[in-house]
Amino acid sequence: MGNTMANKYELPQLPYAYNALEPFISEKIMQLHHDKHHLAYVNGANAALEKLEKARAGEIQIDTRAVLRDFSFNLGGHTLHSIFWQNMAPDGKRGGSPTDPVAVKIKEDFGSFEAFKAQFSDAAKTVEGSGWALLLYDKSIDKLVLTQIEKQNMMHLPQLEILLSLDVWEHAYYLQYLNDRAKYVESWWNVVNWGDVNDRFVKAKG
Ligand code: MN
Repeated sequence: MGNTMANKYELPQLPYAYNALEPFISEKIMQLHHDKHHLAYVNGANAALEKLEKARAGEIQIDTRAVLRDFSFNLGGHTLHSIFWQNMAPDGKRGGSPTDPVAVKIKEDFGSFEAFKAQFSDAAKTVEGSGWALLLYDKSIDKLVLTQIEKQNMMHLPQLEILLSLDVWEHAYYLQYLNDRAKYVESWWNVVNWGDVNDRFVKAKG
């Protein structure tokens, strides 16, 4: 994720064109979301690290707690957005039902794809304020689990691998769906990249 040579976080390129998720997510949303919002999280994480370094060197005084809070928020944003872009794909590689092996696991742990989709959608629709819905894999109990993230980092479950993420901040949909988060969530299933979800699942299982 970070460039280890530069020892800094960097904005990853979108793996497709800004208009590649049309008509479900507009070009304008993608442009602003990636180039402005995601970039702000990258810059925010780097700025927090720099402040901590300078404070250690005695160059500045900081409110450590506030800076660490900033770091968590911004790095959470950077991490989640980096996964979110890859969880979606252009026409021809997206939507429909999950493919194996994650399809089998979803059926095993949620009963059916429809039951999973309904509960994941419900998680996304009911995030209080800005946040995310996530599908995670817990290797310790060999189970897929759901969680909500508030903001970019609250309720984070650090030990679990993220397989699928859905951003429900207003910046992710407002320009196209206005205040209708439910409609955005329903549309979003059309752009899910199940190939990527499977790659993450296989890697997480080890
Ligand atoms: Mn976002």
